[in-house]
Amino acid sequence: MPEIGTEPNPLRVAIIGSGPAGFYTVSNFFKHKDLTVELDMFDRLPTPFGLVRAGVAPDHQKDKSVMRAYEKSAENPNFRFFGNVEYGTHIKLADLTARYHQIIFTTGAPVDRNLNIPGEDLIGSHSATEFVAWYNGHPDFANLNFDLSQESVAIVGMGNVAMDVARILSKTPEELRETDMADYALEALRASKVKQVYLLGRRGPAQAAFTPPEIKEMGELLDSDVTVLSDEALVDVHSLQYLEANPDKNAEKNIAYITDYAARERTGKSKLLTVRFLVSPVELLGEDGQVRAVKLVKNEAYMSDDGSVRPRATDVVEELPAGLVFRSVGYKGVPLPEVPFHESWGTIDNEKGRVQTTEGEQVTGLYTAGWIKRGPTGVIGTNKTDAQETVQCMIEDLVAGKILQPDDASREAVDMLVHERQPETITFDDWKRIDAKEIKNGEAQNRPRVKFTNVADMLAVLKR
Ligand code: NAP
Repeated sequence: MPEIGTEPNPLRVAIIGSGPAGFYTVSNFFKHKDLTVELDMFDRLPTPFGLVRAGVAPDHQKDKSVMRAYEKSAENPNFRFFGNVEYGTHIKLADLTARYHQIIFTTGAPVDRNLNIPGEDLIGSHSATEFVAWYNGHPDFANLNFDLSQESVAIVGMGNVAMDVARILSKTPEELRETDMADYALEALRASKVKQVYLLGRRGPAQAAFTPPEIKEMGELLDSDVTVLSDEALVDVHSLQYLEANPDKNAEKNIAYITDYAARERTGKSKLLTVRFLVSPVELLGEDGQVRAVKLVKNEAYMSDDGSVRPRATDVVEELPAGLVFRSVGYKGVPLPEVPFHESWGTIDNEKGRVQTTEGEQVTGLYTAGWIKRGPTGVIGTNKTDAQETVQCMIEDLVAGKILQPDDASREAVDMLVHERQPETITFDDWKRIDAKEIKNGEAQNRPRVKFTNVADMLAVLKR
């Protein structure tokens, strides 16, 4: 038998999840010209690209241009896509271990973290994850409703997801019209009565998790002013000390924007975005089951033993009226059937991408990359180096002979299995047809595309 990884006997790898980490796994493997590898990618949705399609804000189209590079990888004849096929439902771990030498999980972090405060389940309290997936037309979220007749909205968290949500709520229909936002979301936002948007950060301006371009954009909205309370814009002594010892260009730029916004007068725009610092929600207050306000405690900054600046509650509390609340305090991974999972971190147990048991023993043939490997941090490009690290380990293990021993590693064996379990699987060529139709539907409206937001409509394109 020729050596595995050569043309007569290619290394066979299954990739579960078609977001950035999945596609950077593909491009990293194909860089190794001395290795012949066949990559089969599975996704539960018919559409590829994960959060690039369903997470990146529709008014940030430039960030979606990475899809072109992913498409280039997909053109390699040794790549195949099986969309509409779910790991755990259509295919199980044993199906894969019987057909591949290696399996890599790149399923991201699809759910949100909770605040764990009273009132979080009131009507009108949502996760940012749901709202983002809804306005981006993710089929699982297309039927949700958000009460945009509310005038006041609070967003808890200071990361870039919170900024996306705040910006989408603050923009005018004209600013959103030429995007690929789902049609139903455009319509709902056109009728929106939202006037006040609050971003609530538990620490100060020096610790904000957003990046400078995002906070800069808030000062340039067509019909929304931005403001910061002058006392909350001040950088506390601990943060000044911290920044002196740990210079941070992003933090400095963020502080400069915040200082500018605190000094701004209102210019008569119809909406107002208020960025609040050093406040933590301790309860969501309701009336007849519907959220009506956020009870906030004022925090003070202190230097913790680990050298970071942390928030500490004072005894000052206030009520902030809000009929709609979004928690945007980070994403979380969900466990996959038969794959070791670190519950409190929300990631697959791993060492440099090699899946391991809770006792720290490597699970032969299983790997992970992206948010489900390291947690929900970093930008799209961070997944490139992350996937590179895992692919390196996969190649080292191949060389060391530490791979699975499949019964039948042929491509045909996978075709047979998938077509038996999910006859409506989608190939990359099928996706290209759906893609072309979406783009065509967008042309007349000068939009990048008009998305199909349910699976039946996507499949119908292929039957025409
Ligand atoms: P994130 O950047 O980790 O921000 C989470 C925010 O939630 C932080 O401000 C954090 O505050 C706060 N938080 C956490 N627990 C809290 C609690 N119990 N109470 C109040 N606040 C709490 O997460 P994200 O916004 O979900 O973004 C995920 C990743 O995607 C990030 O790396 C982000 O940069 C990236 N992303 C990038 C873009 C872009 O490039 N345009 C767009 C979207 C997302 P502390 O700092 O005090 O913990």
